Amino acid sequence: MTAPPTYSSHATATLEHARMLDHGDAFPTLRPRFHVPLDAEGREIAYFSGNSLGLQPRATEAELLTELDTWARLAVDGHFDGPHPWMRTHEEVAAPLARIVGALPSEVVAMNTLTVNLHLLLVSFYRPEGRRRKIIIEEKAFPSDQYAVMSQLRFHGCDPEHDLIELPLSEDGLFDRQRALDLIHLYRDEAAMLLLGGVNYYNGQLFDIPALIDAAHAAGMVAGLDLAHAAGNVPLHLHEWNADFAVWCSYKYLNSGPGGTAACFVHARHEHAPDLPRFSGWWGHDPATRFAMPRQFMPAPGADGWQLSNPAVLPMAALRASLALFEEAGMPALRAKSLRLTGWLEQLLRAGQRDTWSIITPADPEQRGCQLSIRLHERGRACFDHLHRQGIVCDWREPDVIRAAPVPMYNTFEDVWRLADAFHTFWRDSAV
Ligand SMILES: *Cc1c(COP(=O)(O)O)cnc(C)c1O
Repeated sequence: MTAPPTYSSHATATLEHARMLDHGDAFPTLRPRFHVPLDAEGREIAYFSGNSLGLQPRATEAELLTELDTWARLAVDGHFDGPHPWMRTHEEVAAPLARIVGALPSEVVAMNTLTVNLHLLLVSFYRPEGRRRKIIIEEKAFPSDQYAVMSQLRFHGCDPEHDLIELPLSEDGLFDRQRALDLIHLYRDEAAMLLLGGVNYYNGQLFDIPALIDAAHAAGMVAGLDLAHAAGNVPLHLHEWNADFAVWCSYKYLNSGPGGTAACFVHARHEHAPDLPRFSGWWGHDPATRFAMPRQFMPAPGADGWQLSNPAVLPMAALRASLALFEEAGMPALRAKSLRLTGWLEQLLRAGQRDTWSIITPADPEQRGCQLSIRLHERGRACFDHLHRQGIVCDWREPDVIRAAPVPMYNTFEDVWRLADAFHTFWRDSAV
């Protein structure tokens, strides 16, 4: 079967149909390459929390054991010898990461964790001057971004009450594109930076990133991105879009494991900007002379020059295992599958629409990734717990939102059917 799935007819909302869609899909699932947790009855759970913590690739263990073996057999010589010499650990993952975010390999480096990278790049790119001091972020940005930005403002003697400008959510719970463009224009003389979450973690909205970057640049601002919920989820073209910098973690859609090594992007046009301040460490020093340990810091070319420490080899090995799957699948195929899965979830949910809940994620597939956020107007937590008892793992966000992310790499139409079926059963049973 190669025809696109038909969604709307209620008759297609069966388990058999879901299995048929799985069987005939143009992109065979990579689910067998992952560990899927089992529920109490020994049945694979339907996991919709890949936007919080991606599942573990089965290959991760072997990659980790390889490094433990290298350490055991070679000790310090593992830096130069063994299957993945540690000296080059970060270089091995740069190209696959760059393909995921649409960058040149030299523009990307894997290091640290997301919030650490955000601070490091704010040190370089947030440079308040005269009246131009404000930072624009979206309302309800992820708290870590909020805290990081407020602390940077204070560090520069600014007042977050004044100088943190929030792009407000509209009535419908979404960000309005025109309103964002107007806000950027309004602060054209006062804002130093636009810092945007590529996909908003709460409502799942994908911004029109290139338009907002262009507007920020036209208004004299630096444009930075937090791609925690975008990397590995939606198509990105950071180089072409001229983003100044971006940061993202790898344990969500990139399946690198809890606390996995994050990454960042610095556009090539900043590579030779000697006046950019940066906090430096030895691993960011030009590798040609790193071990001569000269007194003067000479940054390595590209994003590598922002590194501080030698990489954490074990998390990097886990990241490598996951990136191999992205290399195998490719983002275009993953995105196409993602549109089919999330589209079907939306159709199945809407087929049983009640006024007790609403989907707050945009209906336009171009304005979202795989995540759907469902606002429960009543009994939200009970609904979430009901799903959990059925072996359906979503994510609960106070006060009233269930987030569900069908991840194209390992979720199936059957998972999607299970979620929609259990969801409707809950409301049917509670409507008595
Ligand atoms: C997940 C997430 C983070 C987490 O930050 P860590 O430094 O990895 O703990 C930060 N920002 C956003 C937008 C996120 O979605």
